[in-house]
Amino acid sequence: MKLFPVRGGVHPDYRKERTAEAAIVALPLPKALYLPLQQHIGAPAEAVVEAGQRVLKGQLLALAGGPVSAPVHAPTSGLVAAIATMTAPHPSGLAQPTIILEPDGREEWAALPPPIPDPFAADPAVIRARVADCGIVGMGGATFPSAVKLALGTEHKLDILLLNGAECEPYLTCDDRLMRERAEAVLDGARIMAHALGAARVVVAIEANKPQALEIMARAAAALADVTVVKVPAQYPMGSERHLVQAITGRETPARKLTADLGVVVHNVATAQAVREAVRFGRPLLSRVVTVSGGAVAHPANVEAPLGALVSDLVDFCGGLTTPPRQVVNGGPMMGQPLPSLAVPVVKGMSGILALTAAETNEQPSEPCIRCGTCVTICPCGLVPVEMAAFIRKEDIDGAARLGVQDCVSCGSCSYICPAHIPLVHFFNYAKGRLAEKAREARRTDRVRQLVEVHNTRLDKLAAARAAQAAAVEAARAEAAKATGATGQGGAS
Ligand code: SF4
Ligand code: SF4
Repeated sequence: MKLFPVRGGVHPDYRKERTAEAAIVALPLPKALYLPLQQHIGAPAEAVVEAGQRVLKGQLLALAGGPVSAPVHAPTSGLVAAIATMTAPHPSGLAQPTIILEPDGREEWAALPPPIPDPFAADPAVIRARVADCGIVGMGGATFPSAVKLALGTEHKLDILLLNGAECEPYLTCDDRLMRERAEAVLDGARIMAHALGAARVVVAIEANKPQALEIMARAAAALADVTVVKVPAQYPMGSERHLVQAITGRETPARKLTADLGVVVHNVATAQAVREAVRFGRPLLSRVVTVSGGAVAHPANVEAPLGALVSDLVDFCGGLTTPPRQVVNGGPMMGQPLPSLAVPVVKGMSGILALTAAETNEQPSEPCIRCGTCVTICPCGLVPVEMAAFIRKEDIDGAARLGVQDCVSCGSCSYICPAHIPLVHFFNYAKGRLAEKAREARRTDRVRQLVEVHNTRLDKLAAARAAQAAAVEAARAEAAKATGATGQGGAS
């Protein structure tokens, strides 16, 4: 298959060798699981269980809180100990409502929905409903509810389901291992998703630095006429949806448009496997594979953990820490988020836990910009990071917006490459946050203005009705007075 060049990008030290050859291992059940109600983009789920209630494996614990949301299920059987607030796996360290489940070790399953007999003959709406009911979200880190993304086929004419096996972030190998160890399941799930989307083809994109995954997936796809496995260059951020679509189709997704507008929908390999479990077996999303790595971890590994296990459970399972980490990151080092502590739970979108040493984080004091222009050359989105940062430093967020800061995919390539060690991506995340807040404020103001207009119109109508009523009363009075006057006159004559 012909590949197309992708603009910019960097070649970080991938450091995947510490876990790439380690087969996936299952984490023993911890003493407690902590299941936040918000593990996805959209409205938080709403708890349907109470403290003290016994639940079975796979049982619904929390319902989707709206059309863009995802339910939460019990990863094992046990007792709901409490529903409490707990620190989220997010740099803000904010607390959020969390169901605390104490496993009973019996692994007793709840009654699951029956398998969909022939998924390739099923109505796409049936597949979407199953995916929604099973709480599946984008497991590459995006955490967008997968059923909503599968509905894109109802509004767009789609050609390709692009299965993202690029895994371009350094250290992470969970998708690599999944493709090597569960290739048939991943492809089956991808083909089911393609059917749900109405896309005729599945293209699996894998970076060149995963030769075994490429070989195994190609072998598994050999008999499937609708599946093509493609080797893409190891060039960060190849795993970004827009860049992968450009590499495969040669088409560039316009700013603030979806890849679906170009006929392509991208899903992650772990999501595909979860979809297969839901459709073929009725099993909700209860666990995920997480790469536990970084120089501070004694024995890095790919661990299949029940959702809600603590990050510290996984680190202990990997032999603990050999040295205090400089930083612990959720995801990869380029786009991942620092974790506030190890006492936070594994959630649906957590692909990596990296305990990085000071040497690995390579934090250096930033110096003044030397105007080398490297950040401009490598930006995969064709932006001008140095100029955008200059505007943001002056708090001119609108100036940065005019230069396209909202099109920044926060890949971190500019920060990584900058010889002056300027944390450029932090500026852009800050600016995007400010612009999003401004947009929300504008929507709120608009809504209030509409409400005031409706209110004023109602008051005007009420006042007009009262005036009309008063005029009618006055007219009636005048009429009556006239009549009385006429009668009086008549009587006196
Ligand atoms: S973080 Fe944004 S500005 Fe920097 S290279 Fe990536 S897309 Fe470009
Ligand atoms: S890479 Fe760094 S030093 Fe070079 S122009 Fe960009 S911001 Fe300035």
